[in-house]
Amino acid sequence: MAKKWVYLFDEAAEAESYAGSWDGVRALLGGKGAGLADMTRAGVPVPPGFTVTTEACNQFSASGKFPEGMWAQELAALQEVEKRTGKKFGDPANPLLVSCRSGAKFSMPGMMDTVLNISLTDKTAEGMIELTGNPRFVYDSYRRLIEMFGTVVLGIADEAFEEPLKEYKEKNGYKLDTEMTAEDWKAMVETFKAVVKKEKGFDFPQDPLKQLELATEAVFKSWNGKRAIDYRRATNIPDDLGTAVNIVTMVFGNMGDDSGTGVAFTRNPSTGDKKMMGDYLLNAQGEDVVAGIRNANPIENMVKKMPEVYYQFMDITDKLEQHYKEMQDVEFTIERGKLWMLQTRNGKRTAKAAVKIAVDMVNEGLISKEEAVLRVTPDNVDTLLHPQFDEKAKKAAEKAGAFFARGVNASPGAAVGQAYFDANTAEKMAKEKKQAVIMVRPFTKPDDVHGMIASKGVLTSEGGATSHAAVVARQFGIPCVVGASSITIDLEKRVMEVNGKAVKEGEWISVDGTTGEVFIGQIKTIEPKIEEQSELLTILNWADEICARDGMRNAPPKWPTRGLQVWANADYPKDARRARSYGAVGIGLCRTEHMFFETERLPIVQRMILAKTSEERTEALNELLPYQRKDFDGLFEAMEGYPVIIRLIDPPLHEFMPDEEKLFEEVVTLRVKGETEGLKEKEDLLTAIRSMHESNPMMGLRGVRLSIAMPEIVEMQVRAIFEAAADCTLRKIVVRPEVMIPLTGTVKELEWIQPRLVRIAAAVLKEKGIKKLDYKFGTMIEIPRAAVTAAEIAKLAEFFSFGTNDLTQMTFGYSRDDAERNFLVTYVEQKILPKNPFQTLDRDGVGKLMEWAITEGRKTRPELEVGICGEHGGDPESIEWCHIIGNNYVSCSPFRVPIARLAAAHVALKYSGKAIVEDK
Ligand code: PEP
Ligand code: MG
Repeated sequence: MAKKWVYLFDEAAEAESYAGSWDGVRALLGGKGAGLADMTRAGVPVPPGFTVTTEACNQFSASGKFPEGMWAQELAALQEVEKRTGKKFGDPANPLLVSCRSGAKFSMPGMMDTVLNISLTDKTAEGMIELTGNPRFVYDSYRRLIEMFGTVVLGIADEAFEEPLKEYKEKNGYKLDTEMTAEDWKAMVETFKAVVKKEKGFDFPQDPLKQLELATEAVFKSWNGKRAIDYRRATNIPDDLGTAVNIVTMVFGNMGDDSGTGVAFTRNPSTGDKKMMGDYLLNAQGEDVVAGIRNANPIENMVKKMPEVYYQFMDITDKLEQHYKEMQDVEFTIERGKLWMLQTRNGKRTAKAAVKIAVDMVNEGLISKEEAVLRVTPDNVDTLLHPQFDEKAKKAAEKAGAFFARGVNASPGAAVGQAYFDANTAEKMAKEKKQAVIMVRPFTKPDDVHGMIASKGVLTSEGGATSHAAVVARQFGIPCVVGASSITIDLEKRVMEVNGKAVKEGEWISVDGTTGEVFIGQIKTIEPKIEEQSELLTILNWADEICARDGMRNAPPKWPTRGLQVWANADYPKDARRARSYGAVGIGLCRTEHMFFETERLPIVQRMILAKTSEERTEALNELLPYQRKDFDGLFEAMEGYPVIIRLIDPPLHEFMPDEEKLFEEVVTLRVKGETEGLKEKEDLLTAIRSMHESNPMMGLRGVRLSIAMPEIVEMQVRAIFEAAADCTLRKIVVRPEVMIPLTGTVKELEWIQPRLVRIAAAVLKEKGIKKLDYKFGTMIEIPRAAVTAAEIAKLAEFFSFGTNDLTQMTFGYSRDDAERNFLVTYVEQKILPKNPFQTLDRDGVGKLMEWAITEGRKTRPELEVGICGEHGGDPESIEWCHIIGNNYVSCSPFRVPIARLAAAHVALKYSGKAIVEDK
């Protein structure tokens, strides 16, 4: 049998048997064609018609001509449509008019072409006038055809038609198209025909079949038009899908006051409320509603004008929702009192509506909880939790030329504030002057954190997604854009500039951490709160329920078989409380060094670092101990009953010291002025800092290496942890401390340090009279060697936590502080890397190391607890990988916890019951 290129709307069954599934039908007939066929099958009134397949389009794209047999099938289908409508194509006595509409598998609104009113010619127009007695309608339809055909099929510029129409209306004093009379449209038909002749050198085709053939071809070609290609790039729609062509009998909403046309959503697409929302116009054609040429009426008004049609419409749309189990976006036309449905598709909606509709549909018994959870995207959750710019206000700002720069979207949300160029000023303006502040820096360092915390937003011109600014901003939920490299910041003159546009210190800017954009001035924001979003909480609870089911993963004994848990990275009790309220069930990383930077502690820390003897050092540490104990006590109390992983000191010590350059300047100034007071201390300090200098501090004396060089620090920390744990236990608070040793590269390091620390833990518990405490000692896996030798490491480590920031840095050999600024953007653009590996885990390299580490680690210790605490812990794609390889949990910033809960449920459902590891 010859290949079938054309399917009538009532051939859904044939299409399904050829394509093998409904998804296959959507690929074959496009979303619109499949929808029309499906509606026809459901008994919904759809104007008769047929679909030319996407396969035909692909053949056309490859060969430049229609595939063999396609045109004959199109003509045969046209004859069927003639039979069903009782009209004839090109017959002036009873003409059949059709539209030719594009429609790919995935909706690409407005990106491809459509031609309406095909088969109108001078002759059929006369026939139509006879038939309808409505010359105005006929000439209006005819000029629309010439215009659409001229622009879409013949490639004439829109203005060639728009200009003469505008001039004509002005000349006659008309404002609206509705003021045009039959004679006026008739004149425009002649004008438009002349435009075609002038532009193309031939006449507008008077052969209806030629019109159909050329329109079909034009729709095929529009698949490879620039607009469509750009849209596909932006939305990741594959290029090889092709578009179908739908030939649909024209029904007219502009045949008088018993006709009309409209568009509607079956629920409110912006709030999700279960109330039809739409507009209609009497005596109008489709695009009049969409284009807003005339003010449309709310759909509910239709009940008064056409009660029967209205109730039929409500009934049909209700059935469509029941059928698709989704909110529908429909187009309809009423021709002389008869309702026709032209299109139905799942309606686009805001994040708020997506969540509400999903929950409502479960309550209505339409869908399952699992389906509801799957329908909400991690991006939806993200949007609902961060302040956002009001879209209209943002567009207006853009239009007004307020756009300033673009960088990496490091921490989502919208922030508006006055720009200050250093942490102290930012903090001062925020605290003392109560200003909304955006801290702007080339990059940030640990001693800038106080300024960041005081700010509404952070902007840097250097650094990437795991730069200090990005990590800290995400941790505290501060909207942040980093690496906006077009900005030059002049810290002397206190001004920043992009191409001559300048923002002085104290001026207002708006920073969009969700998109990476920066604007001059203040843009209106909308602030959401999680506890007020009951539907979102419902979805997240369902997500947790799904993840908690045993058997979501199929794995060897003692491996986790439930879905992932979500823990949080939090340093302070208030962050821990937030993390808990957002649903975290553990702390996966407390970076203890952040506490060392607090104003009253830093001098003690510096004294400790500069100590010449172990006694001096111990003395300073003894001063720090009560502070740390209090920190941990607060954290344990906030996380009562849940595990809390405390990481021992990690960064190189010079980070706690004053800036070398600044200190040098001070010394030089004192010397030049001949002042001696304080000079010696500063000189000594400078010498000490210089002696600590390392060419590559990230790979230098930090992490466990530092603990081995200076064990007193971590000994103090472990004492503080266990004293706090003991105190909490005595207060009947259940605590589960887990001590984490960072940056291990060989098990020998653990063998050196861990027993000392375990002894301290045991001693403290004995001192305090605590008999039983649930605690663990473990390590971070953030050096490739640790991953490779995981079986050895697990002999000591009772848990692993993947520090994927460092693990990515060290696996690729890319500096996490510089790579994004220097070459990563180019790498992603040039497709050398699929994505920024500091944002989304590189499964093939870093991910493989993780997989190996888990498998090897659990060979030694099957019950080994495994988590991730690098920035990837809050990224849905990376979370998926963690589920696949058998992590127990992911840990991320408190603000990302809800997103991670949803993502964890998505992956649990996607892989439900599948084996974590084959043959292991
Ligand atoms: C990591 O390396 O992934 C990590 C969590 O540690 P840090 O970012 O503090 O180096
Ligand atoms: Mg690290």
